[in-house]
Amino acid sequence: MSQFRFCRLTEQRVIIAENRLRKPDMFLSALDHYFDDDVANCPFEYGNEHLSGHEIFAIRDNGSEKDTVGWKTRVVPNLYHALSTDEEKKSRRIGFCESENGVGAHEVIIETPNHTASMDQYTIEEFENYIKTIIARMDDLKNDIRLEYIQVFKNCGKYGGASMPHPHSQIIATPFIPKNIKEQLKIQKSYFLKHGRSLMGDMVEEEIRVNERVIYENGTFLVFTPYASAFPFEVMVAPKHSIAMMTELTQYQINDLSLAMAFLFKRLYRELGNFPFNLHFFNIPPMNNRNEPEFFYKMDEYGRFFVRITPRIYQIGGFELSTGMHINPIAPELAAKRLKEER
Ligand SMILES: [Zn+2]
Repeated sequence: MSQFRFCRLTEQRVIIAENRLRKPDMFLSALDHYFDDDVANCPFEYGNEHLSGHEIFAIRDNGSEKDTVGWKTRVVPNLYHALSTDEEKKSRRIGFCESENGVGAHEVIIETPNHTASMDQYTIEEFENYIKTIIARMDDLKNDIRLEYIQVFKNCGKYGGASMPHPHSQIIATPFIPKNIKEQLKIQKSYFLKHGRSLMGDMVEEEIRVNERVIYENGTFLVFTPYASAFPFEVMVAPKHSIAMMTELTQYQINDLSLAMAFLFKRLYRELGNFPFNLHFFNIPPMNNRNEPEFFYKMDEYGRFFVRITPRIYQIGGFELSTGMHINPIAPELAAKRLKEER
């Protein structure tokens, strides 16, 4: 029996339809998303630093020099960028058509010098470096008052939208808050005004209470498959206390996030093999220098930072694109059970 489930965070419904799995070819074979690989010319390799543009930030071995080998993580501009900070903020209208210059930032985080590493192989230290690199870039980008929203994400595998196999994430910062994000913040705000509590906070508490979808827990974070998962094996990593942006994380909390992600990726790779996915870091928009005090009112109290991992093992099609409603053939309770199992 299929079921519509309501997501309180997006106010969207998803369809959990397990009998869709009757069609056995619906899951993408892991082999299908391998790239034709050319390691020697990969711009993210040691020795190829000149191919990837100047270094914006890096975590490096002591004594190693900028734009040379010896980095652990490295941030460079996206050479095929969608947006640029060199543009002037300007809008125009011709009849019905409105446009604005593509002001923004588009950066690449090279997560490791190891071309073939997958996230299940990352050490705790590698996760910590990855998270610290994201925090350093967010701390810097939020000073540019033209940029109103910072999205950090990873596309992994061809079906995850990646164009290169070397492990990397991206940051796109936009001169406005994208509509989906604004909607989610409004939903969280109205919940807060009505109940005096954070929606994400209540969601996390409910998951702990029900305990049907929890995979892992430590002092700071809960890892679970959301009740209204839009994708099979979708997972959320959410803080148990009020943390609105990654830039607030303490060293202790960075370590807890690394432990949670290391555990989760080991289990995901165990269950799904070399699977394509997207990873998104949701943060509230930077609140400095904003002219909308009403919109930002107490956002740092109700808004919560979280990580969402959406495996892309099941193709989305016309229905999802036209309605925004997803069909998920794996109940999140089943996904959680498999991910939690000790084997
Ligand atoms: Zn490489």
